This record gives sequence, structure tokens and C-alpha cells, in this order.
Amino acid sequence: MTDNKTLQAVRGMNDILPDEAGLWLWFEDVVREWLESYGYRNIRMPLLEPTALFKRAIGEVTDIVEKEMYSFEDSLNGDQLTLRPEGTASCVRAALQHNLLYNAPQRLYYSGPMFRHERPQKGRYRQFHQIGVEALGFAGPDIDAEQILMCARLWHKLGLPDVTLQINTLGDVAARQRHRDKLIAFFGQHSADLDADATRRLHSNPLRILDSKNPAMQELIGGAPRLMDELEDDALSHFEGVQAVLTRHEVPFEINTRLVRGLDYYNRTVFEWVTTRLGAQGTICAGGRFDGLIEQIGGKPQPACGFAMGIERLLALLQEEGMESPPVPLDVYLVHQGELADSMASMVAEQLRDAGLRVLLHCGGGSFKSQMKKADASSASYAVIIGDDEARAGMATLKPLRGGEQVKVVLGELPGRIAAKN
Ligand code: ATP
Ligand code: MG
Repeated sequence: MTDNKTLQAVRGMNDILPDEAGLWLWFEDVVREWLESYGYRNIRMPLLEPTALFKRAIGEVTDIVEKEMYSFEDSLNGDQLTLRPEGTASCVRAALQHNLLYNAPQRLYYSGPMFRHERPQKGRYRQFHQIGVEALGFAGPDIDAEQILMCARLWHKLGLPDVTLQINTLGDVAARQRHRDKLIAFFGQHSADLDADATRRLHSNPLRILDSKNPAMQELIGGAPRLMDELEDDALSHFEGVQAVLTRHEVPFEINTRLVRGLDYYNRTVFEWVTTRLGAQGTICAGGRFDGLIEQIGGKPQPACGFAMGIERLLALLQEEGMESPPVPLDVYLVHQGELADSMASMVAEQLRDAGLRVLLHCGGGSFKSQMKKADASSASYAVIIGDDEARAGMATLKPLRGGEQVKVVLGELPGRIAAKN
């Protein structure tokens, strides 16, 4: 039996239609220029990775690994695979696999789809897109601060209002261990007030309790022991180093000691850029330092720092500001009719394109009148009209579509005439 119901996209996975894709293209151009201005180089990783990579990097007891990953067994060979939920793990895997960190640290960026099985809502999708920026092999607070300054520059470039910066430090291993013990003791004393997630995580990953979005848990979390109180001098001075640069550049920030991030690999500096204009999904960009990750994935220990921004949320914010897809204007709509004219039309169109013009060649025939209607409705500045009479004379009619007189032009002079008028 055939099912002829129209097939739909997977829930939470969006088509980006041409009207909106223009905004994406514009955004990607701006972002690329911005990244290059800080010396970051592009890297492209596969969308599928071994499941073990994400479990090891992000942490077994995190929302992403516990309930958001698209993981499956490859039925052809039994491999355990996962559609990447984020890019840092893949990027580090690729850098190690190809020995990129052997000689020098690397500033890398990537962009593309990420996959998380979350409840779809505004600003939260199952396939969404990130620009990821990673500085691998850098230890000092200068790079953390530079990455934050980079973001500030991008918001400025994009004309984004009301984006605020929150920063925190997660310290190093020993401080985290002490904090962990205190959290277990504290939440253990309040076990009756813990929700199911928190109860489950009390011993496996108590830091995750601090990341809970459950409103009923917030008061308890507010009274929990603070990692800030456990920090060692090195981590504190690193954090102060980051703040000093931000202050020097007059980038306002708020220290949010509750900011812990949803992935286990972070240490020391973490940050989020937040807007109040997108409802609950207000974090447009987030990142921090992950000094332990490279070793955890099998490399020799090297510090690193990075961040990722959600493209859908950024574009939603821009659209909120009234931004629309910039039009991509055509130069010429080429109208043609008659045997000779039809046979010449594609040659003329190619010659115009050789001269750098954007040309839409009318295809599919039809009367002059119906072709001219299409030309008028297009975004072209000119119609180039070729009938058999013109074709025999090696000429075309050049008609400005936004006012002005039409003229007959020798075919070879068309590019010059159009470029001169544009
Ligand atoms: P959130 O707290 O909103 O779930 P997160 O901490 O899980 O975000 P990260 O893993 O840090 O997010 O990803 C970086 C950015 O990617 C986020 O700040 C957000 O802009 C975007 N992002 C994350 N998950 C989604 C999603 N499901 N849909 C759209 N954008 C997302
Ligand atoms: Mg999330």
C-alpha cells in the first residue's frame, strides 16, 4: 500500500527557504571577515563521530549525553555513531588525529549544523547551527579575553543591542574536587528538596545540579557552596587577568558565580552572552576554557579556550531589530523570441556573465509580453530583448526596468552599456 501523505521534515529540523537564506549568507560573510581579522582558520569536521568521543568529552552525566544525542548503531557494520551535538570534541579530535598542535598552537573555527534531541520551541531546535571558535594550545588569560573582545566586536558589527556578558571561573581540578565534596554534603542534607535529575546526579555529577533550569530548585541552589570560595591563587589570578583586559577595553561584564555551563570539559574561565529579547532562549553565545580536554581525548596535555554561538538565535535577534535578507539584484533579464534569437540567447547570456554581470536567461518560451512581465517582476535592472530582427543585425534592445528610455545596442557593446549605467 502506498502512503501518499506529504512527507514532512523531522520535527525540530528546519528548512531555511531562499527568502531567509539571504540573511544567512550575509551573516556568514560578516562572520568570516570577522574571524579572519583575528587570524582564525577554518576547519571542517564530519557530522558523524564515534559515540565514545562525545561521552568522553562532554561527560556521561550531562543533559547532552544523557538525553539529547542522536546516537545509533550503523546497521552495516555495528559501529556506534552520534550526530555531533557540538563541535569542540570533534575539533579537538581532528587536531590530534592530524597532529595540528605539534609545532604551534592553533586558532580554528568551524560552522555548521549540530543535533540535539530537545523539545523544539522558539530558539531551540533539534538541528541548529553554530559558529565554533577554538584556540588550542594557549594557556594565558590573554586569549580568553581576546575571544570575549572578539564577540563584543561582532555584536557591534551586527548592530546587536542589549547583549550582556556574564563570566565566571570554574577553577582547577583540586578546587573542583573540594567543591564537589561540599556540594554532595550540602545537597545530601537537603535531599528531600531535590528533583529527580538532581537526586540522580548527587553523587555522579553534583556540579550539574547548579545548572538546573527547574524553578523549584533555584532557592536551594542559591544557598549552595560556591566554587569561588575554593579557588587557588593561579586560577584567581587568571580570572583577574581576563577581567583586567575587559576593563581596559571597557567591555562591561557581570560575574555570575552560578554560571557552570552544560558540558563537563570546562575549567577556569566560562562566559555567556545573553539577551532578554528572545524569551527563555536568551543565550546567544557561550564558551570558556577547557584545559583538560585535549589530554582526555588522548593528546598530550595542552590548554585551550573556545566558544560557540547559535546562528538561529543570533538571526532571530537581528530579525527582531527589523533586519531582512539583503536583496541579491540581477543585472539582466534576457528576453528572446524567434528561431535565430532563441539559438543565440544562451551565447549572449554567457558573454554578459563573462563581463561579470548577473543574468537570468528566460527559459521555457512564451510571448514577448509574458516574458516582459516576468522581467518586470524580477529584481533585474535591465531587460535585454532579442527578436529575430535584432539577432540578424547582431543587436539587442536594452530596456531599463526602473525607468528610462530603451535603446538598440550592438551585442558586443552590451556589457559596457550595462556596466556604465549601473
Ligand atoms: P542552552 O542553555 O540554551 O540549552 P547550551 O548551554 O546547551 O544552551 P551550548 O552547548 O553552550 O548551549 O551551545 C552554544 C550556543 O548554541 C548556545 O548559546 C545557543 O545559542 C546555541 N544552542 C544550543 N542549543 C541549541 C538548540 N537546541 N537550538 C538552537 N540553538 C542552540
Ligand atoms: Mg542545552
